[in-house]
Amino acid sequence: MTQLPLRAQLASALGRSAATLSRMTGRGDGSVIGGRVGLMLEPDLLRQLARDRKLALVSATNGKTTTTRLITSALLEMGEVATNVFGANMPAGHVSALSQHKDAPYGVLEVDEKYLPEVLDTTGAGVVCLMNLSRDQMDRAAEIWLLAQKWRRALSGKPTHVIANCDDPLVTWGASTAAKVTWVAGGQRWKEDSWCCPECGGPLDRKDADWACRECTFHRPEPQWVLDDDAVIDPRGQRWLLDIQLPGLANRSNAVMALAVAEAFDLPVERALPRLREVTSVAGRYTTVEREGRQARLLLAKNPAGWLEAFDVADPRLPIILSVNAQGPDGRDTSWLWDVDYRVLRGRPVFVTGERRLDLALRLDVADVPFAVCETFSEALAMQPPGRVDVIANYTAFQHIRSEFGRAV
Ligand SMILES: [Zn+2]
Repeated sequence: MTQLPLRAQLASALGRSAATLSRMTGRGDGSVIGGRVGLMLEPDLLRQLARDRKLALVSATNGKTTTTRLITSALLEMGEVATNVFGANMPAGHVSALSQHKDAPYGVLEVDEKYLPEVLDTTGAGVVCLMNLSRDQMDRAAEIWLLAQKWRRALSGKPTHVIANCDDPLVTWGASTAAKVTWVAGGQRWKEDSWCCPECGGPLDRKDADWACRECTFHRPEPQWVLDDDAVIDPRGQRWLLDIQLPGLANRSNAVMALAVAEAFDLPVERALPRLREVTSVAGRYTTVEREGRQARLLLAKNPAGWLEAFDVADPRLPIILSVNAQGPDGRDTSWLWDVDYRVLRGRPVFVTGERRLDLALRLDVADVPFAVCETFSEALAMQPPGRVDVIANYTAFQHIRSEFGRAV
């Protein structure tokens, strides 16, 4: 690797010191402050740190942290990998990740959907992985269409190799200006944001996994990789069992995306797949916390599509605790609760907590789902019989439970 210019070396080193200081004084993991300090001293730092590395950028509404982790685990098979493990997914976080592993030949960066064009321009990443686009707490359908349009502009005319989920029409449209695309049939659980053709606004016809616009030529491309329940079919037609540790269909989809990215780095399935099996939890998700004989498994759901994925993972035989907050990172507006179909929870004991427990209670009441309201998560947990229970929480509710119960068992 070529040496960084002196100014960039200094900026990078001072950023790392700021991060260490921030950690030592208990102000979080320091990855954002460290990156900010570095960028303040050298605005071109991200470009310089990215130079001479093989980089993959990972973006989506849901699953980007997990997929980043899976790709990182796979590429570790070949050498050191720089990655933003704490999910700090804007440029300051990327600077911090690359500074901390300044000699790593590979980098896997989770990128906020809105920052993808900027980060792609700055880093010149060779591989971009795009999984899904759906409304978030703060983004409505028109905004995600604009986002896909920005992806199109950013990818157009670049040599970047894109790995994209062709089961999501909006992602397909966003990726299709790229010079080279590997299409992955990764599935699409949440379809409410893709009934219209992103190209012409006409209706999309769907038949099984296939989709096509009724009014223009926009249609689902032929996939090279196919997720088929608990297996993946690779571009040569070979079938591999996806016996990964992470639960649920959404994670098997993330795993297929990771295998396709690994192959873009010339890492074959037989070497990548065993590495994916080593990942058991990601930033506390899917881990189990224990108190007085109750084992609570933590699932994160930040938006309507995320709730559907969490319902897939939750065990229908177990009681379930739902916790919803509405602080900054969650979005203050809880109207998105009305986009989720909660009827799937009928027939199992449901407990509702979090700051916005009454909003959620009203929603469940309308869906004819019986529930009990609890003041706190501890109270909800104490009401369970000894044994297992599933927990679905949105962002700050999840973080609160994690910090109260400490590290997972
Ligand atoms: Zn159309």
